[in-house]
Amino acid sequence: MNQIAYRAPWIIAYQNGTHTLLKNGCVVVEGDTITHVGHGVPEDVDDVVETNSVISPGLISTHAHINESPVDKTIVEDANKRQFWNTSLIEILPIRGAAMTDSHRESCTNLSLAEHLRTGTTTVMHMGAPQDYLLEAIDRSGIRAYTTGSFRSGRWLTNDGKQVSYEWADDEGFSGLQRALDEVETIRSMKHPRIRPWLNPSQVDTCSENLLREAKKAADDSDVPITIHAAQSFTEFNEMTRRYGRTPIEWLADIGFLDERVMIGHGIFLGGTPAVNFHGDDLGLLADSGASVSYNAWTFARGGQNMFTYRKYLEAGVRVCLGTDSATQSMIESLRWTAVLGKVAEQRADGANSDEVFNSATVDAANYLGREDLGRIAPGAKADLLFFRTDSATMAPTRDPVKSIVYYAQPEDLTDVMVDGNFAVENGTVRGIDVARAAAEVQAAGEHIWESWPQGDWGGRTIDEHIPVSYPAFKESGS
Ligand SMILES: [Zn+2]
Repeated sequence: MNQIAYRAPWIIAYQNGTHTLLKNGCVVVEGDTITHVGHGVPEDVDDVVETNSVISPGLISTHAHINESPVDKTIVEDANKRQFWNTSLIEILPIRGAAMTDSHRESCTNLSLAEHLRTGTTTVMHMGAPQDYLLEAIDRSGIRAYTTGSFRSGRWLTNDGKQVSYEWADDEGFSGLQRALDEVETIRSMKHPRIRPWLNPSQVDTCSENLLREAKKAADDSDVPITIHAAQSFTEFNEMTRRYGRTPIEWLADIGFLDERVMIGHGIFLGGTPAVNFHGDDLGLLADSGASVSYNAWTFARGGQNMFTYRKYLEAGVRVCLGTDSATQSMIESLRWTAVLGKVAEQRADGANSDEVFNSATVDAANYLGREDLGRIAPGAKADLLFFRTDSATMAPTRDPVKSIVYYAQPEDLTDVMVDGNFAVENGTVRGIDVARAAAEVQAAGEHIWESWPQGDWGGRTIDEHIPVSYPAFKESGS
């Protein structure tokens, strides 16, 4: 197998348990693996590629909904959500979800995979409606992924725009779990180098205690990681305290769900933090259990919400990983918003720093997965590499490549993305996906969803009545 050396002015290389800044260095890739990192080029390489890049480890998104997120765009921002404490979950996303067809989800999947790759994600952890199409799309895109279909015992809705209601179908939760376990076996039997399973009981307030106990046991028996939405909205927090007299995190701890194989998305509304007026020590419970949190800063910030605070979670000993959740699905944006909002929340310029957020998006997520071969550039690690140009208006000058990526990089600066030793993005082009076609299909999906809005809304409103656009429509003069 050929050994190819990539020389670069900057390499974010991993050494002695930390990322380091290697100036004028070289990464050697053989097949799917990094075999050498250092200043000099080994004599026995077959080829040397000169680049003008920062070579970074690929980013790991620990929370994504690739078969639906693109159609969140323009329906969740700037809307009045007072009755549901600023979340889109109750009154907006169920309407969007009900209007979507499998074909819409396929189009969204293609566009999402392209967006992830184009913005630095080399490993995406997906949750969403079960769909056979996903595995084919992930394979074709070249990305690395964790996936299986989500399942739950019920769903929330509102019938009047005032209250949250729940509809229960516990049998569907258990059949969904069985389908997901079948998918675990399917994925394992594929022996695909880039696709692995995990489990996703959807949300803490839509899963019965029995379903969560079974799902956690099944995850342990199958040796797969497991994720659940919890502490993701004030409405959910209130429902759990009303239902059980416990915070969502306390209840998960009570039923034996929390341990180091669990990823909590999003873990914002915690007892004992300013996000809720409810005392407790959910941060301590998370830290003691070893469970991780997936923080998706942009999704919450656009709802006027923030983590209190990123730094305090780290100081409490909670592993915080990053994701993208909704639109935008850019891990560059996730890095940036986590750093900036962390500073704002702490009211300090060093309230969240580039090394911390970069760790969250790389080695911390890899360590959650038990994957010492991901999230780092070191001999023996998988060749998941990002090539950011250094000579662009946004990147130059480069003194500290991690700060440059966190605070300044744009998707256009990310010219090439290697996953598992192959280029999934080359000169800015996603090789495995027809982006123009996917974008046109997602536009059509959006048009369908927007027109269907009155059928899904409790009050029969049009989408423009429910979620106004930013300015009135242009009128032809004289009309
Ligand atoms: Zn989510």
